[in-house]
Amino acid sequence: MRLFTAGVATESNTFAPMPTGLDDYTAFRGWPPGEKPTSFATPFLVWRRMAAERGWEAFCSLGASAPPAGPTVRRVYEGFRDEILADLRRAMPVDAVLLNLHGAMVADGYDDCEGDILAAVRQIVGPAVPIGTELDPHCHVTELMVEQATAIVLYKEFPHTDFAERAADLLTLIADAAGGRTRPRMSLWDCRMIGSYFTTLEPMKGFVDHVKSLEGKAGVLSISPVHGFPYADVPGNGTKMLVITDDRPAEGAELARELGSRWIALRGRTHPEMLSVTEAVARLRDIPGRPVVVADVADNPGGGFPGDNTEVLRGLLDLGVQDAAFAILWDPIAVSIARAAGPGARLTMRVGGKMGVLSGQPLDLDVTVTAVTDDLYQRHWGVGSSLGPAAALRAGGVDVVIVSRRHQVFSPDVFRGVGIDPLARKLLVVKSTNHFRAEFEKMAAAILYVAPPNVFTNVPFKRILRPKWPLDPDVFDARP
Ligand SMILES: [Zn+2]
Repeated sequence: MRLFTAGVATESNTFAPMPTGLDDYTAFRGWPPGEKPTSFATPFLVWRRMAAERGWEAFCSLGASAPPAGPTVRRVYEGFRDEILADLRRAMPVDAVLLNLHGAMVADGYDDCEGDILAAVRQIVGPAVPIGTELDPHCHVTELMVEQATAIVLYKEFPHTDFAERAADLLTLIADAAGGRTRPRMSLWDCRMIGSYFTTLEPMKGFVDHVKSLEGKAGVLSISPVHGFPYADVPGNGTKMLVITDDRPAEGAELARELGSRWIALRGRTHPEMLSVTEAVARLRDIPGRPVVVADVADNPGGGFPGDNTEVLRGLLDLGVQDAAFAILWDPIAVSIARAAGPGARLTMRVGGKMGVLSGQPLDLDVTVTAVTDDLYQRHWGVGSSLGPAAALRAGGVDVVIVSRRHQVFSPDVFRGVGIDPLARKLLVVKSTNHFRAEFEKMAAAILYVAPPNVFTNVPFKRILRPKWPLDPDVFDARP
C-alpha cells in the first residue's frame, strides 16, 4: 500500500480587506515536525503513525496553511496546487490519497479551491483510488467535492478539539475502501440556512451525540454536520448534512434529509445570547467571583476579520470599566512603537481601527507600556500558535494586549505572556467566537458574548444561493 498525503488550508472571508498572500502561509514539505505541532500539522502526524502501524509506505507532499483572512492570491493558490499535483504524479502509482484541507478556501478566480484540488487529484489517480479529505466544519461542501472525493470527514466539535480523532476516522474509512471491504457513498443535503453552532452547549451538544450514535450501524460509515462558513459570498456557502454509507445511497440521502430537518428545527437556539457592551458590563456586578470572560464575537480573526476593531474596547473605556484586560488587537505599528519605548513608557498612541470599514475607528489613547515580548505564544488543545512581537498597554482601567501576528485568542497565555494574571482580573475580553472556550471555561466565573444584532442579515451577500434562513425568514414555510 502506498499512501499519498498533502494539504493546503485556509478559511477565506470574502468581505475581509486583506488578501492572503504567500507570506501568510506556513508551509512544510515532507512530514511536519512533531514538536510544537499545529492543529493543521496534527492530521499528517496521525496519518503517518497509522500508516506505519499498517506497514504502508506513506508520503507527505506539501502542507501549507494560513490563518483566516481574505481570499488567497491566485498565483499562490495555483502554485501550491500544482506543486501537490506534480508530487502526486511523481509518486504514482498510489493506492490511497488523504488531503488535509479546510473546505472554505477561496482564491482569486476560484470559488471552490477544495473542489478544484479534488478534481485535479482524481484526474491523476483515476476512478478506482480512494481519495479522502478532512475538513473544518466551517466549510462549503459542494457537489463537485462530493463527486470527486471518496470520503469527506469533518471535525464534529466547535471548539475544534477533535481534529486528531477525525483524521484517524478518515484513514480507517479510506483503508477499508482501498482494501475493498467497503464502498463509501456520500449523500449531501442542503439545510438552506446559515448560522453559528456551539457544540459544547445544548441543543447542539445533544445533536452531535445523536449523530455519533448513528455511526457504525446500519451501513452508516460517517456523518458530518456541515456548519458552513457564513462570511463567504460564494454559491457553496451554507449549512448542510453529509452522510457516508457503505453503498446505500438511498438510505444515506434519507438519513441526511432527516438529520438536516432535525437541525433546522434547532435554528435560532444553537448559540448563546449576544449582548451589547453596556449589557455585558452591567451583568458583571451580579456575577460572583472572577474572571468574567467576554467574547468579542464580531471581530474574530479566526473568522477572517481584521482583529483590530476597536468598538468593544471603546465601549469599555467609555463606561470607565476597571480591573479589566483586553486581548488581542492586531496592530504591528503600535507594537513596534511600544517595543521601542519599552516598559514603563507613557505615551499617546493610536491603536487599532486601521484595516478598513470592518475595523471601526482608531483609538487615540494615553497609555503606559506595561510589558513587551519578542514572541507571545499561546498553547491550546495540545498545539499552539505564535502571535509574534507583542506588548501590553494600560489605558484607564483596561490592560490591552497588542500583537504583530493576527490570531484569535485561544488561551489565557495571551495574558500571562505579557505579565497579566488572568485569574486576578474581574473582566477578560477576548477576540474569538467560541474557540477560546476550550481553555477559558476551566477558569471563568462566567462567559458572556458581545456582538451587534443581526450579524448575518447585515452581511452584503450577492452570490450565495437563496432562499436561506435567516436572510429569508420564511424559507421553511414554503418547503414541502
Ligand atoms: Zn472552524
